[in-house]
Amino acid sequence: MSQQVRVRFAPSPTGPLHIGGVRTALFNYLFAKKNNGVFFLRIEDTDQNRYVPGAEEYILEALKWLGISPDETMGVNEKFGPYRQSERKDLYQQYAKDLINSGNAYYAFDTAEALDAIRKEEEEQGKTFIYNHHNREKLDTSLIISKEETAQRIANGEHYVIRFKTPVNETLHLHDIIRGDIKFETNLLDDKVLFKSDGMPTYHLANIVDDHLMETSHVIRGEEWLPSMPLHVLLYRAFGWDAPIFAHLPLIMKPIGNGKLSKRDGDKLGFPVFPLDWKTEEGISSGYREKGFFPEAVLNFLALLGWNDGTEKELYSLEELVNSFDLNRVHKAGAKFDPEKNKWFNHQYLMKQKHSDLAKAFAPILAEKNIQVTDDSLIRIVSLIKERAHFVSEFWEMSDFFFEAPTNYEEKATKNWKSDTPALMQELISVLGEITDFTSTNIETIVKDWMTKNEIAMGKIMQPFRLSLVGALKGPHLFDIVEIIGKQETIKRIEKAITTL
Ligand code: GLU
Repeated sequence: MSQQVRVRFAPSPTGPLHIGGVRTALFNYLFAKKNNGVFFLRIEDTDQNRYVPGAEEYILEALKWLGISPDETMGVNEKFGPYRQSERKDLYQQYAKDLINSGNAYYAFDTAEALDAIRKEEEEQGKTFIYNHHNREKLDTSLIISKEETAQRIANGEHYVIRFKTPVNETLHLHDIIRGDIKFETNLLDDKVLFKSDGMPTYHLANIVDDHLMETSHVIRGEEWLPSMPLHVLLYRAFGWDAPIFAHLPLIMKPIGNGKLSKRDGDKLGFPVFPLDWKTEEGISSGYREKGFFPEAVLNFLALLGWNDGTEKELYSLEELVNSFDLNRVHKAGAKFDPEKNKWFNHQYLMKQKHSDLAKAFAPILAEKNIQVTDDSLIRIVSLIKERAHFVSEFWEMSDFFFEAPTNYEEKATKNWKSDTPALMQELISVLGEITDFTSTNIETIVKDWMTKNEIAMGKIMQPFRLSLVGALKGPHLFDIVEIIGKQETIKRIEKAITTL
């Protein structure tokens, strides 16, 4: 094994990348960068039945959007290419044959029907059928016929698979960085198919051969692959290769109840479980990008699903994550997905954005509504509203009154509009009309002085004033709104409220 840390993300292109897959990619990325290693992407597309067009492009685009693109992959530093397994097809057969020659694998000719019949028979006797040491000598395999007969049957074009000959009566003592020492009994394993007569390897063979050839130092992947670990270790041994170091990441669990977060949970529970939108004929599965999440917020959130640095710290830049990340601090218990926390992270990152960037992100929403606004005002507006926003997409609802006079007044807020309010508002108009330096603090001082001098209670003015300008009792500091919409518009809105309410 090479000394250098080389880790891979090895998804199968069977659909959009689930958020759990993104977390696996992220942990591999962090581990690689932390150790000055290489993070590569390999596409495991040997199962043609499950291949979904567009999935590979989706994976690449998602990693790029998140800022964790691989150092090596298709078209990028192809040191150990090709990185798409379907393009490495011709290479696997020889490895399967090597295992046959060394006595670690065998040909099995059983038809699907024959296997079904045996399965039924065993099930009737209350047993679960498993293809392994206990019955492999009774099944239709090269273990019980001559080399010549085997060669003849293959030459005749008979369907076959190559199965691994799992060693018998052995206890495997394995180690996983996250799970510690684990024991497996080989007698409980089945003789997995490694290669099929259609010329395609299965996941197990291709994965091991490629991890060896691509000099993978650590296999960091989801817990669902833990049951494959003994077979994989046995395969490395059968080939006479050093096995990489393993780390199986905890599952990501549903926000409520038990069970693993599934691809369907997102749209059902109202939050995305995919990095980007995924469109099919059945509709759109929503993605973090299109929902308005910042990629940094998604990464930060995912990093803490199963890992922490032992402190209370929650906000990390990617660079800080790289510096703090430690596989030894990944826990093995499932990590609960918390959609509210997810939004909280986005808010934190929204607060960190430059006002000019937030304004730039908001501008297209305004342009769609044909609203003209200067850059300076827009920057000012976003600075006033961002405190309460999780997403830029909420900006319009939080700030529409800056751009348009209210067309109606919130029912419950009109309670503050009393019989003496119109007269007071009329007076307020005169006060405002005389202000020349129309800036927030100055307007505030003058209006408040007027109230004090005339012994007018705050509530009598401030709430109806806000209602006139906003149509509700929401919004940022009132005098900031007054300054931004300007004297003329402010007076116009108060006059309208007087006649309407
Ligand atoms: N192709 C497997 C997947 O879809 C890779 C598992 C592994 O990392 O070994 O996740």
